[in-house]
Amino acid sequence: MLTLFQSSAETTASSVVALPDWTSLPELPLASEILAKQPQIPPDNPVTKPWESKEVYLDTQYKILRCDATEGLRHSVRSYIEATRCRPTDKIYDNESTCIYTRVRVKGVTLARMGPIFTIEFSLEQSKFRILWQQSRRLIPGTIVALTTKGDNFKSICKVATIVQRPFKDGLDQNPPRVDLMFAKPEDAVIDPDLEMVMIESREGYFESARHALLGLQQAAKTDSPLDKYILGSYNVDTPPNFIKEQPIMDLSSLDHRTGDPDPEPIEGLAQHDVIKDGIPSVLGATLLDESQLQALHRAITTELAIIQGPPGTGKTFVSLEYLKTQVAHRRKHGGPPIIVSATTNHALDQLLLQCLGANITNILRLGGRTKSQDIKAHTLFQRSILEKFPANASKDYLERERKRCVSALKELFEHVFGDRLIDPNALLSTNIITQSQYDSLMDDTVESTATLNGHGPFMAWLGDNLIKDEALRDRYLTQYELSEVEALQNLPEFEEEEVENIADDEEDQVRIRGERFRFEHVWSGKPPADMTRSSRTAEKALREQDLFQIQRGLRGAVYQQLRSKLLQRTTEKANALLKQYVSICKRLKDCKIARETHLAEKQCIDIVGCTTTGLTKYRGFLAELQPRTLLIEEAAETREVDIVSALYPSVQQLVLVGDHQQLTPKCNLSWLAGHPFNASVSLFQRMINLDMPFRMLKEQRRMKPELRYILSEFYPNLVDHPLVESLENRPDVPGMGCRNCWLFDHTWPEEVNSDCSKFNRQEAQMIVHFYAYLVLNGTPASKITILTYYNGQCKVLLRELRRHPSIIGQEKEFIVRTIDSYQGEENDIVLLSLVRSPKEDSAWKVGFLEDEHRAVVAISRARRGFYLFGNIQNALHAHDISFHLWAKIWNGFAEQECVQRSKGIPLVCEAHKHEVWMKDVNDWGDNAGGCNSQCGQTRPCGHPCTLKCHPTRHELLRCGQPCREKLVCGHGCERNCGQPCMCHCAQFQEFIAQTQAKEEVPSRRISLAERMLQMGAAPSEMLQQSIEMHQPLSRQPNTRPGRFVNGATRQMIQSQIGRSTMSIQTRASSKWTQFPANIQQHDEEIRQERAAEIAAASKASSTQINEVYQPTSLVNGRRVGGGRCVNQQVKHGKADDPAPASAPEPEPEPAPASAPIAAAESAGVVPSEFSLISIPVLTPIPATTSVPIPAHVCDVEHQFEGDLLIAL
Ligand SMILES: [Zn+2]
Ligand SMILES: [Zn+2]
Ligand SMILES: [Zn+2]
Ligand SMILES: [Zn+2]
Ligand SMILES: [Zn+2]
Repeated sequence: MLTLFQSSAETTASSVVALPDWTSLPELPLASEILAKQPQIPPDNPVTKPWESKEVYLDTQYKILRCDATEGLRHSVRSYIEATRCRPTDKIYDNESTCIYTRVRVKGVTLARMGPIFTIEFSLEQSKFRILWQQSRRLIPGTIVALTTKGDNFKSICKVATIVQRPFKDGLDQNPPRVDLMFAKPEDAVIDPDLEMVMIESREGYFESARHALLGLQQAAKTDSPLDKYILGSYNVDTPPNFIKEQPIMDLSSLDHRTGDPDPEPIEGLAQHDVIKDGIPSVLGATLLDESQLQALHRAITTELAIIQGPPGTGKTFVSLEYLKTQVAHRRKHGGPPIIVSATTNHALDQLLLQCLGANITNILRLGGRTKSQDIKAHTLFQRSILEKFPANASKDYLERERKRCVSALKELFEHVFGDRLIDPNALLSTNIITQSQYDSLMDDTVESTATLNGHGPFMAWLGDNLIKDEALRDRYLTQYELSEVEALQNLPEFEEEEVENIADDEEDQVRIRGERFRFEHVWSGKPPADMTRSSRTAEKALREQDLFQIQRGLRGAVYQQLRSKLLQRTTEKANALLKQYVSICKRLKDCKIARETHLAEKQCIDIVGCTTTGLTKYRGFLAELQPRTLLIEEAAETREVDIVSALYPSVQQLVLVGDHQQLTPKCNLSWLAGHPFNASVSLFQRMINLDMPFRMLKEQRRMKPELRYILSEFYPNLVDHPLVESLENRPDVPGMGCRNCWLFDHTWPEEVNSDCSKFNRQEAQMIVHFYAYLVLNGTPASKITILTYYNGQCKVLLRELRRHPSIIGQEKEFIVRTIDSYQGEENDIVLLSLVRSPKEDSAWKVGFLEDEHRAVVAISRARRGFYLFGNIQNALHAHDISFHLWAKIWNGFAEQECVQRSKGIPLVCEAHKHEVWMKDVNDWGDNAGGCNSQCGQTRPCGHPCTLKCHPTRHELLRCGQPCREKLVCGHGCERNCGQPCMCHCAQFQEFIAQTQAKEEVPSRRISLAERMLQMGAAPSEMLQQSIEMHQPLSRQPNTRPGRFVNGATRQMIQSQIGRSTMSIQTRASSKWTQFPANIQQHDEEIRQERAAEIAAASKASSTQINEVYQPTSLVNGRRVGGGRCVNQQVKHGKADDPAPASAPEPEPEPAPASAPIAAAESAGVVPSEFSLISIPVLTPIPATTSVPIPAHVCDVEHQFEGDLLIAL
């Protein structure tokens, strides 16, 4: 087939690429950049000395950013090219930096207002793993990809495109999967569905966050701003901005936070305060601001560049809010443009905007739609413009008409080549693909009538038998995947799309990616000759024949395809020209949109415009048009310098940077750009401090208990505690820890690596999860505990372990397990920190991320009341000097407070006895029930002795695991445990159940233990309520698993509802059951023999062995006891004198000691096994029902028992 790209092929690769002047580069990379053999190394970026000129400064910033955004793709394409030199394409697989997609074909186009968006399908055969798209970061919107044709393989063709969207339904869930993309150059567009392409994606490098900044820097080069002198580092004198110099009298009455009835006397002069002459207002005593906050606020108001450092918990956002209040008051009084506020994350931005709404600043405009808050959603551009009536706009109407014209022209073009009709000979004639005489021969009268009959045109008759459905020719390449580890890790949180800035960021954009859709698909085709592959040369030769009907019949299929391909080539040329027009119309339409939005902001008297720092550049056109004077950046030390600099519109007079350069730094894609000499991870905030720019630090922290703050004091020596955190009322001690609110747990358990190359530490995770469960049992709600870790891999393991832990089953929604990087700016009552890194014995010390002081500072400063650190501290101290200096400080923070005991582990103090227990190993937790190792020894409300170890949970909330053995209507003893509905498998009892059911005597729905307890007058605790919610609604479906208890209702409940019977249980309907003899002992004897025979047959074991294994069920005092695999020696007569199971065997501690009891509890109801006789520490405060997911390994145990069931009964 002909290649359709000769016309648009890019320049060939060369090792040295001379790029045009940076100020005129398009934002998307050129093909020549991607095909370059060497990276474009950017200039050095010094961060400790001033810049000589703005030109050099911006040039450097631009080149670093461009390199960061495009180098990943260049590298990936280059390594793909190198790899294909020595191996065939199908032997090259994805690796840790590159994803390869083959059999890429275009399936259609959507002519949206954003531009033409192409749908492509692709194969994942180069990926060794099955991809879980909902969790995968592959092909996320905004990623750049490089495409080439299969034949060219990046020799000269390189088409750059960006992913626009990757819908799961009808997209990625298809086989082959599909995504939507946009070509960087409209003339690169492909419309031939038969053209096979290869697509390369880099895993390093997300483009969308950089593309707008690249344009913004070009804009910034064209204009000047009063802030330039500070940015260059050549000026550091405090200077008030012009608009404050002109109007220094400000209304600061919002600083008076006193409330009361009657309203307190206003502070004199506060409403007319000259911020320059009068300095800081004296409001201490009347304001909630502390002194350092007040000073910072004054600085923010009165200087062009204000830098405010807010260490953890010092109320940065509070100062920002107070600043905004004064600015809005000033703006309302004297007029002026809206104030722009921005933060790196949507979360931080929304926090600030919500506080503004709370402070009655409601004229807010939120740019970008990634807000989770419904209150903020009402303030998005989209929502605000719904109500707005815009004046008629002639140029917009004109452009819209032009766009429609373009669409219909393209539609006509596409209809000629695609659709269910055969090619129109007229189209071939008009494009000179066939001659007039060929045309005439085809339009022969004799065949025309048949052709018209079918509506297919003359080619129908000409092709005859050679006409076939096109899909018959398409190759099928459904990919089969190997089962991967990725697949095994189920139940992971879905990939958070909020993490990335999307191309379609808000509802407005969603509208913009809709439009007219055209499918690129041939319905009919010509059958290629059977004896040869379809050869274009043979077909070409045949086309010299002027009478087309003279062409050999067997060849006509190939000739038809040749004609169609030529027509498609001509169509592509025309279409690309039209698409180029279309794109330029779309760009102009976007400008009209900006004009409309500016109008809206003015008309709706917008006080504050909020967006993320990426939004600052993405909406640059609109924001610049508003001519803002003040720009407030929250989390400024985490913001890339380029984002701020490219947002310094000429109108901006005041820049307020609020952040903390000791916490997280800006992220960049390439680690080699982050450090010296390119310093891409050094923020403007940090650089200004390096350059001795004046700044204010907030000093009073209101988050951490003093002992927690102490750990931080080496990093923030000036930080002091607000009285609030010193009071036990506000910061109570952690229950179950005996006043030890922080602790460092040191271990040497080795780390491992998962398939994503992320580290995890299984034993550390298990230790943390046991401790977590302990805290929950002691009354700390799961939602008040955050587990922080350095590695994604560990997050997954922690979540898996949490979901397995029986004591916290049913609370999955509450679990907060996060990486440190995603937790800046957030806090919780209790934080458990997992360091993960711990080399195997004989391996070198290695710490990775742990050596980063910024991350460590964030990690140790998130907790309000309790902070517990788990890790291999020796490793952190030994790895190298940087790591030593960092972790020695943290170690000392704990050690000086006697909060570490390496040899003993971590101490717990039970609430009941105040006993101290030390946990050193995962196995130490054994059957810990949330207290010490003493036995509880109390009597349960049901009359059974409690056989648990010391526990803080009330007995009412614990399911009793003792055998019930209540005498039932059938005369047998109950087979189950006390905490379960009574059960006997005999026919009589089953019939009784069936009758009871028929009479509808069973409650219309099951009642949970929790509900029952409420009915019995228990205090409606949070836990009870939660338990009840969890169990509703309940289904009445009978459980099909024989012997498994059906619900969590207690025996008492059943008794009160339906006497001695119980609810529906489907039994195994074997013939044995229907003929169940009345004499249970006779039956037992049968079974015994049966089983003996089975075992003897299976293992040729002697009969004495069998007797050891099996003990017959017998009746003792009218109760059925024993049976099953184990000897039921402990069972004595009657209930009252049931022995304490001191002599009972211990349950197997492995594989999962803590969860075995649950399995035992459930299976023990049927088969009195070794588990049923001992205490069953079912610590789940919520009675387990079928609606509670049971961890996989628990189910395994159950199945094992099911096997026994057949034999034992
Ligand atoms: Zn105790
Ligand atoms: Zn107890
Ligand atoms: Zn009991
Ligand atoms: Zn019972
Ligand atoms: Zn019975």
